[in-house]
Amino acid sequence: MGARWSRLFASSRLLRASALLAVLAMIGFAINAVHPVLPWWILWLPSVAGSCLMVVHWRRAARADHLPAPTRLFWRRLFPVSVLVCLGSVAQAYDMITVADPSGEHISPGQMLCDGLAIGLIIYALLRLPFGRQSGSELFRIVLDAGTVMLACAIFAWHFSTRHALHGGDQGMIYVSLALTTLALLAVFAVAKVMLTRPAGFIDRTALRMIGVGVLVGALSSTLRPLVEPMNAHLFPGIVGMPLIFFLAGWAAERQRAADYTPRRGVRERPRRSFSFLPYVAIAAVDALLLSVALPESAPDRRVVVISAVALTALVVVRQVTAFVDNGRLLSRLDHGATHDALTQLPNRRLFHERLTKALTAPGERSVAVALIDLDDFKEVNDTLGHEVGDLLLIAVAERLNGCIRAEDTVARLGGDEFVVVLDGADPAAADLAAQRMMAALRAPVLADGHELPIRASIGIADGRAGDEAGRLLRHADIAMYAAKAIAGTASLHFTPDMAQAGADNAHLGAELRDAIDGDQLYLLYQPIVALSDRRVIGAEALVRWRHPTHGTMPPQSFLPLAESTGLIVPLSRWVLRAAFRQLSAWTAAHGEDAPAVLNVNVSPRDLREPGFAALVAALLDEYGVPPHRITLEVTESMPVDPHESSTTLTALRSLGVRVALDDFGTGHSTLTMLHDWPIDQLKLDITFTQAEVNRVPVAATVLQVADTLGLQTIAEGVETPDQAARLHELGYRSAQGFLFAHPLSPEEFGDLLATARAA
Ligand code: C2E
Ligand code: CA
Ligand code: CA
Repeated sequence: MGARWSRLFASSRLLRASALLAVLAMIGFAINAVHPVLPWWILWLPSVAGSCLMVVHWRRAARADHLPAPTRLFWRRLFPVSVLVCLGSVAQAYDMITVADPSGEHISPGQMLCDGLAIGLIIYALLRLPFGRQSGSELFRIVLDAGTVMLACAIFAWHFSTRHALHGGDQGMIYVSLALTTLALLAVFAVAKVMLTRPAGFIDRTALRMIGVGVLVGALSSTLRPLVEPMNAHLFPGIVGMPLIFFLAGWAAERQRAADYTPRRGVRERPRRSFSFLPYVAIAAVDALLLSVALPESAPDRRVVVISAVALTALVVVRQVTAFVDNGRLLSRLDHGATHDALTQLPNRRLFHERLTKALTAPGERSVAVALIDLDDFKEVNDTLGHEVGDLLLIAVAERLNGCIRAEDTVARLGGDEFVVVLDGADPAAADLAAQRMMAALRAPVLADGHELPIRASIGIADGRAGDEAGRLLRHADIAMYAAKAIAGTASLHFTPDMAQAGADNAHLGAELRDAIDGDQLYLLYQPIVALSDRRVIGAEALVRWRHPTHGTMPPQSFLPLAESTGLIVPLSRWVLRAAFRQLSAWTAAHGEDAPAVLNVNVSPRDLREPGFAALVAALLDEYGVPPHRITLEVTESMPVDPHESSTTLTALRSLGVRVALDDFGTGHSTLTMLHDWPIDQLKLDITFTQAEVNRVPVAATVLQVADTLGLQTIAEGVETPDQAARLHELGYRSAQGFLFAHPLSPEEFGDLLATARAA
């Protein structure tokens, strides 16, 4: 403010001139108050000259083309005020200089007319200002406050001026004086209203205040006449007051012209809660007046009453202010609540949008990136381990993300398991670094309620620059995030235009998959499971494929994640189970003893949570006449499974006689205790350990030991070379599957394989 003020002052010669006039008026007044040496007309010169300068000032503001239209309209309405005031001040000066004995109030009729009109116009312009929407109670409060200020001014006016006018003077003067006082009080009311509210942002607040103070000075200065009159009948407060008012008015106009109205798209300034000391100042002033009037004149017992009354108002004011401060605190807490997420205390979607928009609309050429972070298995955690654990996970993720960003960036929670970071000023390389930091921060598992939860997240980055639209950037980040989800584990991707197409495709694919499950586009391949000792086929694993009408044959990885995330996995598993059981019963019919003894079928952890899943399996076994011990259901270990929730289903399945295998063992979530408590029969050693170089073999050995201790069967997956087969056999593995023995085969190929085996 100080700097701005001095800059204004330095840049406007006109403003310096009106300041000088105000100072000269004060000096002249002071000299003549002590000893009237200067001719009286000289004292009125600054007032006349100052009013002319004011006209120029206000004309400039009314014509400033760079200001927004409503601003110019306001100043155009005000401009005639300056002309009227100028005429009034000339009339006043003329009157004061020509009259021989100006004792008493003495107001020139010309000045009265001009000032009366001017004040009326100011009230009109002020009250026509748009104040934004206000509630009834707000408006009531403002009227009360403005009324308080007005009443205080009225008391002063009465005490210092009106009552004197009523005593002496002619009847006409009394009415005119009363009318003028009323008008001035109305102006005070209008000004107080403006100062207490926050007129829509296009009128400079300081300019308004200046005008307000000017009107106040005008309303009050005439009341000081009885104080200065005793010194000399020619001394009027207006001699000093007028140039001061004109200077304030000029300053207001200059402030307005210098105000910066470069448009800020979308950025809404938070409305400041107006708390004004104005009414309290008014009360204090009236109290002071009361003390000064009542104390010297009254008896001691009355003084006690007066002092107590004043003390009482002071106490009430203090109480009021305290309550207001308290309210303010409460409101700011509410404000925080409205812009922050209650669980993680991070900014919420609203504040995120505000910050992003601000970054995008900040002046200058700059990069702004948005990184959207979505947890991959959160729903799973929430559903299986409960919301409390889910909440703990979210809080931990929020803390980690918050801990790895720069101060100028904002992490926000958009809802659910979605977080977003505004990377202000980050180009693609910097955004990439930030994403690396986030991934590193999320690497360690979260310990929540005794569960060790690995965090897998997908990060989508949209690279934008100043001027971009916030919503579009977020949409791009979202698309990139979905693309990153297709990559196993935690990954980040930058948005590229071709992803937008892919995103649309994905939604489309979901709909197509639904049709595929209902129609006949899915089919199963069967990979033999062999005995390592003699490569005899002892079982098979059913693996699903999708014969897509336009994309051709699709591997499970390209549609299973979609099925999991859309819930389509449940009908899909139902289809797979039915097809697999039908096939097993067909092979049994065709090959008898030589048919695979056991068929492994993959199911999703989600299936285990479906109520009635065990009953469904029982019904299918019954329908196809398959003995339960010939079915093993594989549940992958790479997704978190709640042992407690799923164990009901698992126990039910096992009591049917169906066996359960833990798939991809070694990649995921199980702990040794979990293995021990879980009702399972089989471990499938994940392909990474099967194919590991020599130095990783110990894992395969350890898994075997654990399995033996717990009485579980083992199958080694993904055996591709005779070396691997030999090593696993040596370690003690009995069964395996892999390309070395056979690729996944169609039922016919599998039938041929069985036939040749029988022939051999
Ligand atoms: P999985 O259960 O671990 O299945 C084994 C995967 O390893 C199969 O991939 C198989 O083709 C592949 N594989 C077999 N031997 C070798 C080998 O020697 N080397 C290599 N590199 N790979 C080998 P596929 O068929 O693409 O299936 C991928 C995954 O999709 C499966 O992994 C399973 O988790 C899931 N899946 C497949 N069918 C179904 C299903 O019907 N239901 C469910 N829920 N998931 C399924
Ligand atoms: Ca499997
Ligand atoms: Ca596997």
